[in-house]
Amino acid sequence: MTTFKELGLNSQILQALTDLGYETPTEIQLKAIPQVLSSKQDLKAFAQTGTGKTAAFSLPILEQIDANSGDTQAIILSPTRELAMQIANNISDFSKHLKGVKTLAVYGGASIEDQVRKLNKGVQIIVGTPGRTVDLIKRRQLKLGNLKWLILDEADEMLNMGFKDELDKILEVTPKEKQTLLFSATFPREVESIAKNYLKNPVEISAGEKNKGTDQVSHQYYVVSERNRYAALKRIADVNPDIYSIIFCRTRRETQEVADKLISDGYNVDALHGDLSQAQRDSVMEKFRNKTLQILVATDVAARGLDVTDLTHVINHKLPDQIESYTHRSGRTGRAGKEGISIAIVTSREKSKLHPIERLIGKKFISTPIPTGKEICQNQLLKLIDKVQDIKVNETEISDFLPSIYEKLKDLDREELIKRFVSIEFNTFLSYYENAPDLNDSEHMRGADRNSDSRNKRRDDENMTRFFINIGRKDKLNPARLIGLINDQRIAKNIEIGQIEILDTFSFFELDKNYEKETMSAFEGNDVDFEGRNVNVEITTKQRTGQARSGGGRGGDRGPRKRSGDGDRKPKSDFSGFGRKRSGAQGSTSKSSFGSDQNPKRRKRI
Ligand code: AMP
Repeated sequence: MTTFKELGLNSQILQALTDLGYETPTEIQLKAIPQVLSSKQDLKAFAQTGTGKTAAFSLPILEQIDANSGDTQAIILSPTRELAMQIANNISDFSKHLKGVKTLAVYGGASIEDQVRKLNKGVQIIVGTPGRTVDLIKRRQLKLGNLKWLILDEADEMLNMGFKDELDKILEVTPKEKQTLLFSATFPREVESIAKNYLKNPVEISAGEKNKGTDQVSHQYYVVSERNRYAALKRIADVNPDIYSIIFCRTRRETQEVADKLISDGYNVDALHGDLSQAQRDSVMEKFRNKTLQILVATDVAARGLDVTDLTHVINHKLPDQIESYTHRSGRTGRAGKEGISIAIVTSREKSKLHPIERLIGKKFISTPIPTGKEICQNQLLKLIDKVQDIKVNETEISDFLPSIYEKLKDLDREELIKRFVSIEFNTFLSYYENAPDLNDSEHMRGADRNSDSRNKRRDDENMTRFFINIGRKDKLNPARLIGLINDQRIAKNIEIGQIEILDTFSFFELDKNYEKETMSAFEGNDVDFEGRNVNVEITTKQRTGQARSGGGRGGDRGPRKRSGDGDRKPKSDFSGFGRKRSGAQGSTSKSSFGSDQNPKRRKRI
C-alpha cells in the first residue's frame, strides 16, 4: 500500500497528516499528488465530493510553495464561501508545521477591507469565490502576476451558479505559464468547454467513474401526489429512527417552508440557505456536524460547504433543476465505505426526470412504497427496545427505590410488565399512526388503472379537512369570493382547496389537512369580516355530498371533529424517534410562523 511518504511529501506535511489522522492516501490523492509534484502539465480531474480532493490538489502545492516569498502563488476558486472557508481551513491544517506559509479565504458577504488588510501582509495561497476574487483584482489588491497554480474546484458548480464571466476575468490576469488544475464531479458541455479553453494538453485523472455516483449509494424513489409530498417526507424520517440526513430543496423559500413545518411538527431539524446570515449558517452547520441536529433542510448551494461524511440518507424533497446536482446531492451519503440511500420524492409527472439521472449515475432508481403506519410503528418499537437494551442502569441511585417498586409490581408477570412499560412510550405513537392513510400515488402503484378515479377521490378526501363557515349565499358569498377570502388569510402558499359548498346561510370548504391548525388560527387571528358579518370557521365532520353522513346537528356537519390523530401529524410522544424532539424544536434560524401547539388533542376549536 502506497503511503503519503512514498508520494514524496516532506516531513512537516506528513506530520500534519498524522495529526489529522490521515493514514493512507485516497484514490484521487494517489493519482494527483505525484502528478502535480512531477509535472507542470495541466490536470483535468474527475472527482466526486468527499473523495479527498482538497488534499489531492493542496498537498503537492504546499510541497512546492516558496514560503520566503509573499507573492500569491496559488489560487483556488470555489463556488461558495462555505467551501472556500473549508478548503482554506484544510490547507491551514495541512501547512501548520510549514513555517511562513499563509492561506486566506476571500469571499463575499464579509468585509473586503479586512480581507485586503490580510492580503497586504503577503499570502501565498488564496481560496476565493469568483465574485470576490474579481472585486479584489479590480481594486488591484489581489495580484496574480506571479501565480504558479490555478485550481478550479467544483467547476461544474461554479458554472451552474453562473460564474463563467468571473472565471474568464480571473483567468485573463494570470500568467500563461501557470499550471491549471480543474476538478469537477461531472463534465457537462460547459465544463468541457472551460477545460478546452483553459487547459493546455491536460493529463486526465479520475477517482471513480466519470459522471457516476458513488457505488455505496442506492437510489430509491417514492411516488406521491403533490399534496402528500410533505407527509411522505415525515414518514421517511419516522421509519428510519436513526436517520442523519440532508433534505434538499430547490429554492430558499421551499427550504425554509419545509424546515418550518418539520420544526413545527417537532422534528430535530433546521434550515440552511442563502437568506441566513453567515453566523446563522455557521451555527446551523456546526450543530449538524456535531449531530445536535439530525436533519438539515438545505439548498444545493448552501450545502456545498458542509463537510459531513456519514449521512444515512439524502432526501430530494424535489429533484434539482440541473440533473448534475443530483450527483452532488447523492454523493453526500455512502461515503467512507458506508452504505447510503438517496431518496427522490416525485409526483407521477416528475417520474420522467429520473431517467436522465439514471443515465448520468449509471444506476437504476428502485421504486419504493411509502412506509405504512405499521412499518413505522414496528421500526420505532424496535428502536425503543434497542434503547432498553443499551440503557446504562445506575445501580446505586436506583437501589433505594427498587424494593417498593418490586412490591408494587409483584403481581405482574414478565410478559405483562414488558407490555406495559413499552406501552407507556409507545401508545401515543401507535394511536397516531392507527388510521394513517396510504400515501402512495395509487396510479403509480397499481399501474395505469383508469378505474381508480373514485378510489383516488376517496383517498384525496382523507387528505382534506372540511371546514364550516358561517356565511353563505345570503351574504353574497360565491365560490370565487370564498377562495378569495381563504387566500386573503395567507394560510400557506399554494394551499390546496378542495370541494366548496355554498348554502343559504352557511357554507363548507375543504383545505389541505396539513394546514388545519394554521387555517383555524388564521381565521381566528385575523378577526375576519365579510359583508359586515363576523366570520366564524369550524372544523366539521360532515361528509361530502353523496357520501354517508355521520349523524347529529345540521346533517351531522356542525360538531368540531372528535378524532384528533390524523395519521400525518406528529404524535405527541415522549418516545422521540430519530428526527423528533420531545417538544417543538426551535432551531436558531427557524422563521416558523406556525403555532407551537404540537398536541393534536389540544387543537384549538372555535
Ligand atoms: P474532500 O473531498 O477533500 O472534501 O474530503 C472529504 C473528507 O475526507 C474530509 O473530511 C477530509 O478530511 C477526509 N480525508 C481526505 N483525505 C483523507 C485521507 N487520506 N484519509 C482520511 N481522511 C481523508
